Amino acid sequence: MKISTVLFDWDNTLVNTNEFKELSKRAVIIGMQSEATEKFRIKLSRKVLEETMDKIRKEKGSNYGKLIDETALIVCRNLGINDQLKIDRIATAGISAHHKTKYAYFAYLYNEVIETLTALKSNGITIGIATAGMTHKQIDKINWANLNRLIDEIFVTEQYVNENKMQHSIEIKTKEYFLWIASKLNKDVKEIMMVGDSYSNDIEPSKDAGMITVHLNRKCNTEEVKGPKADFMVEELTQVTKIIWNL
Ligand SMILES: [Mg+2]
Repeated sequence: MKISTVLFDWDNTLVNTNEFKELSKRAVIIGMQSEATEKFRIKLSRKVLEETMDKIRKEKGSNYGKLIDETALIVCRNLGINDQLKIDRIATAGISAHHKTKYAYFAYLYNEVIETLTALKSNGITIGIATAGMTHKQIDKINWANLNRLIDEIFVTEQYVNENKMQHSIEIKTKEYFLWIASKLNKDVKEIMMVGDSYSNDIEPSKDAGMITVHLNRKCNTEEVKGPKADFMVEELTQVTKIIWNL
């Protein structure tokens, strides 16, 4: 069956999320340090701030909403600073610094993204995003990446969980989530292709739903890591168009 829709995972598939997180972290740290020094003559250690942020993120996950507040609180209290007014000013400077990095978000798109999406779209293929996480946050990323015009549909796991009044984690994509996408698109699963960097979260569940799967592995050596549920293995995204034209 001809492919009519290509679904892409978002993080580390279209955008180099890991590198952007590093930029954001640097900005948050410098933002907090500057405020603490300029306003309150308090010296905050870069190393301590970074370690504290990493520790909280590890414990509470990447969607934890109080990461910067909690970092400021812990670091300040360890220095004997309990004045909430100071702690809040320092945390807010970090949050503000993070927001400023969003203007550079589009620069973290992988090289071949625009070329690939444009080629697919000009050949009449519907382009969707199948991404795990919080609805507003994930959709906002597409705006900051300036990809709105190229993307037709967005499916966030939180939307699926909410619509179906479910309890399970929004971090996990399931076979049922991909079947829900097919029903939303009103398309047969066999005409949908899913492309993603995570074998367990992108490839296995979409294959179980009956879709065609393309595992993106930018670190080469395709044959050795090709899992049984990946129909294709690619090192970069322009290969996706070649696969579709050859099907
Ligand atoms: Mg990913």
